[in-house]
Amino acid sequence: MSVVGFDLGFQSCYVAAARAGGIETLTNDYSDRCTPSFVSFGSQNRSIGAAAKSQVVTNCKNTVQGFKQFHGRDFSDHYVQSAKSKLVYSLAQMPSGAAGIKVMYLEEEKVFSIEQVTGMLLTKLKQTAESALKKPVADCVISVPSYFTDVERRSVMDAAQIAGLNCLRLMNETSAVTLAYGIYKQDLPAPEEKPRVVVFVDVGHSGYQVTVCAFNKGKLKILATACDPELGGKDFDDILVNHFCEEFKKKYKLDVRSKPRALVRLYQECEKLKKLMSANSSDLPLNIECFMNDIDVSAKLNRGQFEEMCAGLLAKVEGPLRSIMEQAKLKKEDIYAVEIVGGASRIPSIKERVSKFFGKELSTTLNADEAVARGCALQCAILSPAFKVREFSITDVVPYSISLKWNSAAEEGLSDCEVFPKNHAAPFSKMLTFFRNEPFSLEAYYSNPKELPYPNTSIGQFLIQNVAPQASGESAKVKVKVRVNVHGVFSVSSASLIEVVKTTEGEEPMETDQTVKEEENKMQVDHEDQKSQAVENKDKKSDAEEMETTAEDTKEKTNDQPPQAKKPKVKTKTVELPIHSSLHRQLSSDVLNMFVENEGKMIMQDKLEKERNDAKNNVEEYVYDMRDKLHGALEKFVNEADRDAFSLKLEETENWLYEDGEDQKKQVYINKLAELTKLGQPIYERYMEAEERPKAFEELGRQMQQYMKIIEAYKAKDEQYCHLDELEVTRVDNLVNAAMVWMNSKMNQQNNQDLSLEPVVKVQEIQAKTKELYSACNPVVSKPKPKAEPPKEEKTENGPVNGQEGTENQPCNEEKATTAGTEPPTAENKLPEMDID
Ligand code: ATP
Ligand code: MG
Repeated sequence: MSVVGFDLGFQSCYVAAARAGGIETLTNDYSDRCTPSFVSFGSQNRSIGAAAKSQVVTNCKNTVQGFKQFHGRDFSDHYVQSAKSKLVYSLAQMPSGAAGIKVMYLEEEKVFSIEQVTGMLLTKLKQTAESALKKPVADCVISVPSYFTDVERRSVMDAAQIAGLNCLRLMNETSAVTLAYGIYKQDLPAPEEKPRVVVFVDVGHSGYQVTVCAFNKGKLKILATACDPELGGKDFDDILVNHFCEEFKKKYKLDVRSKPRALVRLYQECEKLKKLMSANSSDLPLNIECFMNDIDVSAKLNRGQFEEMCAGLLAKVEGPLRSIMEQAKLKKEDIYAVEIVGGASRIPSIKERVSKFFGKELSTTLNADEAVARGCALQCAILSPAFKVREFSITDVVPYSISLKWNSAAEEGLSDCEVFPKNHAAPFSKMLTFFRNEPFSLEAYYSNPKELPYPNTSIGQFLIQNVAPQASGESAKVKVKVRVNVHGVFSVSSASLIEVVKTTEGEEPMETDQTVKEEENKMQVDHEDQKSQAVENKDKKSDAEEMETTAEDTKEKTNDQPPQAKKPKVKTKTVELPIHSSLHRQLSSDVLNMFVENEGKMIMQDKLEKERNDAKNNVEEYVYDMRDKLHGALEKFVNEADRDAFSLKLEETENWLYEDGEDQKKQVYINKLAELTKLGQPIYERYMEAEERPKAFEELGRQMQQYMKIIEAYKAKDEQYCHLDELEVTRVDNLVNAAMVWMNSKMNQQNNQDLSLEPVVKVQEIQAKTKELYSACNPVVSKPKPKAEPPKEEKTENGPVNGQEGTENQPCNEEKATTAGTEPPTAENKLPEMDID
């Protein structure tokens, strides 16, 4: 089972995996750890990642980037509309009203949803992980900005599903960083001690996120988060681009924004310049050749001027820092360290401002680019049963306060209640109690629109069904569980009807309130919704107070009542109620299934196109390779007439590749290659035969020499061989002589043969001869000596024989460890060299 984390960045993505040796950042097919968040659409296929980024100038209208911030947004959303004017590709409205991306794909105009485009990017990241890990990938943890609302988070979850991923957790980017920091720290304070408080700052391409986190041994707790989604690397790029657009208008009379290609090139150069300015404070040039209308442009800028231009942006750095300190009620002295990550955190003036705010040197112990992906992989390892990781509990926060509103039963109009205040621990569940006679609806919404970087406060409607009065006529008691899950998404996760079956004194055990356990936090919470009870039937109130308890309420009640007091006994039955949820901007399962299916088709199309391209490349490669070799290594192995004919054929094929053969089906290329190899293969084979032949003859020669030596030793009455049978040794002698005659004759014939003709003898035949000789001779010469009693007489030392370790001068029939046989002449098991010269 794979354990993978994906940092789904606005500009670039990283993939990390947990392996036996620890967390590893994986490289893609370009051997790069960073995969650009780009998708490019072509007439035959899609390109994703680095391949797409390389088309950003040549295929600018169909190469999309920067789509992360469109998740869950309407086309009419002001953010979408203002971003639209800066994009060189087109946005369009989906039938649902959501923002979509309009491109030419397979020579047709297509509108893709943002979920589909992110799904494509995730497909690429999944493939990267699969090829690095050499196994299928499904379980994963994916990062999202901590400021994403429910609808944006659900949209990323849908994208994961489209890519065939099973997202175990959507993890806030900064929370992933806190985990990557904390889990390795050995010196964290004990659980009962004052926690170590660390601030994490992530300045990415799209936005700025700040988190303050409390660490104790084995756990971390996010205390507060703050963000500015409009303070990232892209905003600095925008300022630079605006500046140079103005300058080039004045200097060269160029309207850069009228030419998408020029605009894309200017963005690229401005980003490079911005990065250079992080390392140099002197004047730096910006030169673009043939920028527009064949005009070369040039300009220069230095860090001081850049900081002046960006003063407004830089002034925004402090706000979120102040916000987290206020939210968490911390003083600067409480902060142990300030860790900074994200590409744009390298801008010196950002670092200075953060450092100045805290009056502290910034720590950069984490890898600024990879920390998010590594944290996600760690979280995946914690969640995966396949991996053993040190126990580490992560408590995140609810980013925005969430309230519920409903129509009150007592016709008092709308009631509402804040169920999760901002910075409430997450994941978390709470139980609410309602008294109702009929199905009722709860509307969840973000209660503080001002803190929301999203225009719509609605989360969704939850209709609690099948509610009817009790048999007694009293209102039904309905318990509703609301939760913010591991993905940071709110839901009404269950509802149940509590039927009072019997009320007697002292017979049945007291009903205790249901407790809800969050696996992650090991917290047991039961939240009593006071307002919902305020609208209940007054008769019921006493019942409800007895049964509904929160942690604090229990304490109060135990104070009210003597500990021994007998409580009324109530027997109840719980009936699960169906809930119909209609969430803001939710994709229907039909649409989602269609997207999943379409992604599968597009993956197949890309695969076929890749195979077609590979087949074409094979033809091209063969042409170039053969053309060189025909006048090089292969020259001697083909006669002049055939060489000329083949050269001509190669030249024709090369021309064909640029003309009719430019865009053909895979099979056409396969056939073309077959046509060429039919001519080239015999030449190549003759060349290979000539290369291998000497080695094969040498092998046979060595084999023969070895047997000849043994025969000689036998004839010289060497005690090592005197047990061999004479007739058999003579047979070996004859076989070796015959093989020698065969070899000499073949060698002679071959030496007199022109290399452009079929060889007289093939390597395979020589190898077969070697094997044949071995099979016939080896059993004879390697026959072991018969066993005999160990000698008692004195031994005299003798020198080594045939290079073997010192053998002893012993009677012929005495057992010797040696078997003079040879190893089979296979490539893996070569003849022992010690036995021959
Ligand atoms: P996000 O986190 O917003 O989704 P991301 O994760 O893709 O985006 P990063 O890779 O963290 O973003 O950062 C990319 C940004 O950092 C780009 O704007 C890039 O130009 C900027 N950047 C990278 N290196 C430097 C540098 N040396 N100086 C200034 N900016 C840099
Ligand atoms: Mg990032």
